[in-house]
Amino acid sequence: MEVIRSQKRTPSNDTVSNPKIPLYLTAPQMEVRLEEFELFAIDRLRVLKGVSDGLARGRNPKEMDDLVDTLWKEHMRDPDASVMLNKDIISHFVLRLVYCRSDELKKWFLSMETALFRHRFRLQNFEAQRAIVGEFGLPYKAVTGAELEGLKERLGQVVRSLGQISPTVEAVYYKVPFEEVPDLVASRRVLIQKGFAFVAGSQLVSLVVTQFRSHISKALILTNRKWTTTIREREKDRLTPIVEALSTSYLGPDYSQSTEYAEISLKDIDQVAKSSFPLCMRHLFEKVREDHHLKHGGRMQLGLFLKGVGLKLDDALAFWRAEFTKKVGSERFDKEYAYSIRHNYGKEGKRTDYTPYACQKIILSAPGAGDHHGCPYRHFSEDNLRAALGRMGLSSRGMEGVMDQVRNKHYQLACTMTFEAVYGTSCDAGINHPNQYFEESQKILKSKTPPAPV
Ligand code: SF4
Repeated sequence: MEVIRSQKRTPSNDTVSNPKIPLYLTAPQMEVRLEEFELFAIDRLRVLKGVSDGLARGRNPKEMDDLVDTLWKEHMRDPDASVMLNKDIISHFVLRLVYCRSDELKKWFLSMETALFRHRFRLQNFEAQRAIVGEFGLPYKAVTGAELEGLKERLGQVVRSLGQISPTVEAVYYKVPFEEVPDLVASRRVLIQKGFAFVAGSQLVSLVVTQFRSHISKALILTNRKWTTTIREREKDRLTPIVEALSTSYLGPDYSQSTEYAEISLKDIDQVAKSSFPLCMRHLFEKVREDHHLKHGGRMQLGLFLKGVGLKLDDALAFWRAEFTKKVGSERFDKEYAYSIRHNYGKEGKRTDYTPYACQKIILSAPGAGDHHGCPYRHFSEDNLRAALGRMGLSSRGMEGVMDQVRNKHYQLACTMTFEAVYGTSCDAGINHPNQYFEESQKILKSKTPPAPV
């Protein structure tokens, strides 16, 4: 795959004739425009993140099929099948580069790509599934016609012995060397005849997925080798910064401008903090009220969040001044702190309008002693987190659900479940940004407030 500056990509006939789900066996021989390199990868990342959320929420296989179908249509579909196929292949190989760089990244990518493949495979028709089996070079032949008819009686006995609710013989069986399915043989879930196991179509998916997973796992190791020995250095001015940013990229709106639901003033900030701030910001807000001080990380995290929820610069200065002067005095506040508040609003220095932090950045931060920034779901001790959730009014059942997600390191999902428990409504998009939490909460609360009398 050669990455070029913006110009027309050479179409590849090869990719058009591939099966509907490519197996990513070799890197594509095609030119890729630099902007596609990044945009395609971001779209695939949206799909993989959706899959990750679906799995973490414990969706059943059928629900996952539907979810994958929707995510794919939303982010990857193109009316031109060959364009879609190229996007599929390019995005996979770019993300392979992004996620080969550490064991943790590799593990996540391998699990999500495998799950995506599993459900895309399940959504294919029989012919397409057969093409995939053939493409992998798996020596499995579909049993058809007279051979299948001749086996129906014995296949029926196997199906009935499994105690299924509706024991029917499936329409498609594959003939697989029996030693390749030891688990199915050991649990007597297949018919064995003359050294072959007759694997039902619905069981084939696990064989194909195992093959896929092992191929991607090996490929990630090789890609990592290439990345560290050549690509990272060779591409240090062009692709390397994009690759390094992609694994932590936040994919939603930036919330740098306040919206209809984000407009707070000083007089109601305490009440709004209680009703609509996510736990990370509630904690910082309470700390600044209590200690009249916050270290740099906390000031940045809370300050930019407050800007995003519509606190005007004058109000922001008044808020920080009221607290900090209780501890450091007015002169020191003006000298050491007021500048950086104006700076965050783009009124000093390079006059950049700084963007509020997304969850991913907050979760990956590393608060030290005396710091209060970070994500409580990741950085609090279990006891502190339970106490904080209790103060938000979570029932013990709701709390256990949240703690389960925390134990599995699904911090954003833990926050989403907290949101759902607090407001009694589902949040299917999941929480990705503290300012999104705030806006969603305000929408709910304002829809419940009766209109003021005229
Ligand atoms: Fe804040 Fe995001 Fe953590 Fe929720 S998940 S507490 S919004 S950083």
